[in-house]
Amino acid sequence: MNQTTVFSLLERHLGSRVAFAAPDRSPLDHEGLRRQVAETGRALADLGIGRGDRVAIVLPNGPEAASSFLAIAAWVSTAPLNPAYKPDEFAFYLDDLRAAALIVAEGDSTPALAVARDRRLPVLSLRQGPKAGQFSLQGASARAPTSLQPTAADDEALVLHTSGTTSRPKIVPLCQRNLAASARHIAVTLALSGDDRCLNVMPLFHIHGLIAAVLSSLSVGGSVYCTPGFNALKFFAWLDDAAPSWYTAVPTMHQALLARAERNADVIARRPLRFIRSSSASLPPPVMLQIEKTFHAPVIESYGMTEAAHQMASNPLPPRARKPGSVGPAAGPAVAIMDEAGRLQASGVIGEVVIRGPNVTKGYENNPNANAEAFTDGWFRTGDQGVIDGDGYLTITGRIKELINRGGEKISPREVDDVLLDHPAVAQAVTFAMPHAMLGEDIAAAVVLRNGQKTSERDLRDFVGERLTAFKVPRKIVFLEEIPKGATGKVQRIGLATRLGLAGNEP
Ligand code: AMP
Repeated sequence: MNQTTVFSLLERHLGSRVAFAAPDRSPLDHEGLRRQVAETGRALADLGIGRGDRVAIVLPNGPEAASSFLAIAAWVSTAPLNPAYKPDEFAFYLDDLRAAALIVAEGDSTPALAVARDRRLPVLSLRQGPKAGQFSLQGASARAPTSLQPTAADDEALVLHTSGTTSRPKIVPLCQRNLAASARHIAVTLALSGDDRCLNVMPLFHIHGLIAAVLSSLSVGGSVYCTPGFNALKFFAWLDDAAPSWYTAVPTMHQALLARAERNADVIARRPLRFIRSSSASLPPPVMLQIEKTFHAPVIESYGMTEAAHQMASNPLPPRARKPGSVGPAAGPAVAIMDEAGRLQASGVIGEVVIRGPNVTKGYENNPNANAEAFTDGWFRTGDQGVIDGDGYLTITGRIKELINRGGEKISPREVDDVLLDHPAVAQAVTFAMPHAMLGEDIAAAVVLRNGQKTSERDLRDFVGERLTAFKVPRKIVFLEEIPKGATGKVQRIGLATRLGLAGNEP
């Protein structure tokens, strides 16, 4: 078995072991998942959708979001989108993707439907089956039926948009090999087996949930208990119901769970975890130690990124050492530190984190400039700054790219700038990261108004909120006569919060 495609990873685990479970649903076993994959391939082929096509998926979190991702990625390319997007965002993403079809849940009135209709994009409605993750696709397309063809390692399997430094989010194509390699790397790091069950609370339009929770588990014959999304009030009941061996989350979720752990001590005692995984933003060492003490389980902090199909480095399981504050040694791809001139650095020297390996994207789509900047001698430049110690453990020390990391949710500051600049009263706008005690970073913006124009912070926030998903709306907007510039005359987003006195104002 070649192990370089999603299909080949799923093929190996036929049988009556559970694949998907969910609250108030009966479980689907691996044999059922195999049948679902085969049926989905035939349904797509009947609609004329085949190898080389992209299918956009807009579904609420849950077992069908997970199973449809797998069943479709086994044949064609998938593009899961955040169901909370506003109409303008759906229009941008659907145009950019050039998808062959859009999948939505039966009866859902998502604004993506109107956008698809305007573009004559075929919509397939996903009807839930009785078991968790079982579904059928209803709909029609103008295409003639095609034949079912197996995928190859270099075929695209997943496309996600990344929040980069440009206002236009970039398309990150990930091929079958990228996904399969990343799932394997994660399974090895965490010693996952058919006995493991992951409790998934991560959104299934983000690489973390899709690969670390779903694909890695199913690739070894394990199972995933799929929740409707993170909810600290429901988590412990799910923990009790799922009896998982692990879960993976971002630091803010871990912190929210810690706040409710004491009153759920009985569930924690009843449902011991083999380990807890944290990724997508930095985990403060005191929080890590507190989670370990509370859950009596090792916390494995990992470093992931969309362009790497998620995992790049990870702390190991015991008995090897976990270092609080470090994201651990390379865990799959090669990881090194590079200086601005493209020279690799020795341990102990701070520089840009670069990666190279079978899980790393071949490059952004239709974006030669971004690719020229992103790749040096075959190494992908992550835009993160870090240092590797004598034991090979990486610590992330900062960021070179302008991305804002709001507790794991990534925001491109220029995307927010562009919306603010559309407001009739705004002449200039600069969005930047402001420190936040719980989230790590939150969004702030400085604006200069047009002569004689007036508006309020509230009005501007509402204006942004109508056009962008809620997490992209600046928490703080300050009005200035002039935007402060760096020594070179350029606006420097990094450090702006401190210069404007917003760095000490955390709630
Ligand atoms: P995403 O593409 O959404 O997965 O975001 C990737 C970015 O998240 C990385 O380039 C880092 O800036 C950040 N990140 C991911 N994991 C960690 C971690 N464990 N510690 C610090 N930053 C992280």
